[in-house]
Amino acid sequence: MKTAYKHWADLTQQIKDSGLWKTERIITTPQGAKIDTTATKGVINMCANNYLGLSNNDKVKEAAVAGIGRWGYGYSSVRFICGTSELHKELEARLSNFLGTEDTILYSSCYDANGGLFETILTAEDAIISDELNHASIIDGVRLCKAARYRYKNNDMADLEQQLKDAQNARIKAIVTDGVFSMDGNIANLKAICDLADKYDAIVIVDDSHGVGVIGDNLKGAHEHCDVIDRIDILTGTLGKALGGSSGGYTSGKKAIIDILRQRSRTYLFSNTLSPIIASASLTVLDMVENDKELVGRVKENTAYFRKGLTEIGFDILPGTHPIVPIMTYDELKAAQLAEKMLEKGVYVIGFFFPVVPRGKARVRTQVSAAHTKEQLDFVLNAFKEAKEELGM
Ligand SMILES: *Cc1c(COP(=O)(O)O)cnc(C)c1O
Repeated sequence: MKTAYKHWADLTQQIKDSGLWKTERIITTPQGAKIDTTATKGVINMCANNYLGLSNNDKVKEAAVAGIGRWGYGYSSVRFICGTSELHKELEARLSNFLGTEDTILYSSCYDANGGLFETILTAEDAIISDELNHASIIDGVRLCKAARYRYKNNDMADLEQQLKDAQNARIKAIVTDGVFSMDGNIANLKAICDLADKYDAIVIVDDSHGVGVIGDNLKGAHEHCDVIDRIDILTGTLGKALGGSSGGYTSGKKAIIDILRQRSRTYLFSNTLSPIIASASLTVLDMVENDKELVGRVKENTAYFRKGLTEIGFDILPGTHPIVPIMTYDELKAAQLAEKMLEKGVYVIGFFFPVVPRGKARVRTQVSAAHTKEQLDFVLNAFKEAKEELGM
């Protein structure tokens, strides 16, 4: 065996021995509130980012099919050679309008949006001040950049201020945070962050992948929720969660920044244009988010209903308003047992342990969708109640 393969076999064994090997459940239906897997039929799904329930929505699917008819299957090019269609320009303008920004640039994913952001606009003379719980794609994007790095405790404004003081001599200071932190479902304190940014002459970058299409009166995201729509310099986000759930991402903000990204951002310049299928469907998704008030109301109603139900059962949930609802077990084994028990009862949830969350902070993370019916949520709540009793929690 070549040395390389021996090394990888050892690594595989190490991961398995540590109990952290991930086995993927294989789904045999489209995504939805109720799904089949190769192992279990008809389980209620409480762990998708399908916040608006659009992953398998008829209108969205029709828009995707119509998109193929009108624009074809693909553009076989990056944007700057021959991959910019009227459709792409229309979606960029619509996203800017929806988010309340000056301009938007599309990427194949939000991972790519973050990967192509920092090194394009910041250099060794600058500083990035980053929340410790920021998403992996922000961390990787920052790694590619030569700016000095500072890290502050999660959503801790005193620590952020200290880091801003430490970074005082940098030319550009850029604060970067998730809009919504995916493990806890808590929302970044964007008002205080913007105040500190003003005080210390910093810019504010928000990755709102779990916020866009989910929070704010008009579902614009964390910046709307925190009433700072005009104060964010850069927003990145995904089309792969609430906004349809396929794939695709964007960076949106001041035109001066987006102009430079179009010239220099490597993940934009050297990767294919977004599929016209997704672009076309995304326009319909934005139509629905802007005009279908019932849809907008349902995810909020379902979330409030589910959070109240879990609290009444006596679970320790992290408080908040976001459809990410973590049920804290603290104990790792308990989280695993609870998830297992729930699957037996027909509910698909996942336990999270170290290193995904800190030690002693194990949990079962649930995510509510507009696609869940009241009956389904009642079924899930009842299953949680039984599981809690059976496990003596
Ligand atoms: C999901 C997520 C991403 C990745 O989005 P993709 O479009 O799937 O690459 C990036 N940032 C945050 C905060 C996310 O939650």
